[in-house]
Amino acid sequence: MIHKIAHIGVAVKNIEEVEKFYSEILKMEIHDREQLKEIKATFIPVGDTAIELLQSTNPEGVISKFIEKKGEGVHHIAYQVDNIEKALEDLKAKGVQLIDEKPRRGAHNSRVAFINPKGTYGVLIELVEPEKNH
Ligand code: ZN
Repeated sequence: MIHKIAHIGVAVKNIEEVEKFYSEILKMEIHDREQLKEIKATFIPVGDTAIELLQSTNPEGVISKFIEKKGEGVHHIAYQVDNIEKALEDLKAKGVQLIDEKPRRGAHNSRVAFINPKGTYGVLIELVEPEKNH
């Protein structure tokens, strides 16, 4: 069901400042920026996967709340799947607690869904079905 890490999500307070660190200090290339509903996202490819920087544009948003509680840092790991509906169905049938029962729109027109970290030993897992598959 899972092929690879699609990306690792990192929660940050000031995305422009963090972009500078990745591009100027680590010499990594900023791939693109996207404004999602309440989130600014920047993708930085690393080999076959990517780092996804996330900044909330809403002080009450999930990323803001995460930073308030835990500080900046790794927020989630995203795994790529072929068929997100099937993956969610399988997990649900196995009793895994989902945050999203139905996929929602993610960056790059992907479809994504989150699994409750209470059932994954503390890691917030995102499933991603890339655009090309639908
Ligand atoms: Zn993500």
